[in-house]
Amino acid sequence: MINILKKEDCVGCNACVQRCPKHCILMEEDEQGFLYPKVDLEKCIECHLCEKVCPVINQSEPCKPLHTYAARNKDSEIQRSSSSGGVFFALVNYVIKEKRGVVFGARFNDKWEVVHDYAETLEDAKVFKGSKYVQSRIGDNFKFVEDFLESGRTVLFSGTPCQITGLKLFLRKDYKDQLILVDVACHGVPSPMIWRNYLIYVSPNNNCSVENILDVSFRDKKNGWENYGIRIGYNKDSSIDYLFEPMLNNLYMYN
Ligand SMILES: Cc1cc2nc3c(=O)[nH]c(=O)nc-3n(C[C@H](O)[C@H](O)[C@H](O)COP(=O)(O)OP(=O)(O)OC[C@H]3O[C@@H](n4cnc5c(N)ncnc54)[C@H](O)[C@@H]3O)c2cc1C
Repeated sequence: MINILKKEDCVGCNACVQRCPKHCILMEEDEQGFLYPKVDLEKCIECHLCEKVCPVINQSEPCKPLHTYAARNKDSEIQRSSSSGGVFFALVNYVIKEKRGVVFGARFNDKWEVVHDYAETLEDAKVFKGSKYVQSRIGDNFKFVEDFLESGRTVLFSGTPCQITGLKLFLRKDYKDQLILVDVACHGVPSPMIWRNYLIYVSPNNNCSVENILDVSFRDKKNGWENYGIRIGYNKDSSIDYLFEPMLNNLYMYN
């Protein structure tokens, strides 16, 4: 049974929650707002499947890159709307157009929380573009990946390296070229609670109603690649207003 004694012994990947045959593990926010698994001991049958899929318990040797490439998307609009060079969306394009596959990534939901989801068209996959600096909720998406793979579809799954390792352990099968894994370079994910509180803090009259927020970009490049900043568009007094702050001047990004 998963028993987190030290916070650093869990990366919040959600693999244990989804693998439990008795559905007795739930993700709950701790006092800082990070998601950790909580086990219902009454329901646990001690099958230990949760431990078998845990990336912290099952650490492998660090691997060395076979090859390194630098690239950027040729489409300037995709470059602009992506956080870096838009290579992620080039891979999405390949999987959806060439392979008729399914892509998984992180998007905002209607409460501006960050959640994982999947898309089967280029239009629907646009919501995955751009880094969201918040821990995403994986939900049941590892199970959906498994279902699509077993039905013969090609799948691209993108997420943090911790989520990718959790998915690989969850699947416990090598799907070879049928599964394309994209892990973003990641220094860690901020807490969903801090993000929620920040949205209230920046909203007009500190009265953030999520339906007033129109769009969020953590890495807006309107002042160029080096002077990027966070941009939040919202409704204010029946017009549209924007907050734009360079990375180092912004309370959320700086901390
Ligand atoms: C939490 C986080 C930390 C990062 N830390 C670093 C860093 O330390 N150094 C660095 O150079 N770059 C960092 N990045 C940037 C990341 O490496 C770039 O997004 C990457 O270079 C891809 O850029 P792109 O232009 O190809 O695609 P983009 O369209 O910008 O990338 C979007 C991709 O990021 C995924 N994604 C977005 N938000 C999340 C999230 N919260 N959780 C999981 N997946 C998410 C989407 O699913 C999609 O695959 C970080 C990104 C995130 C999300």
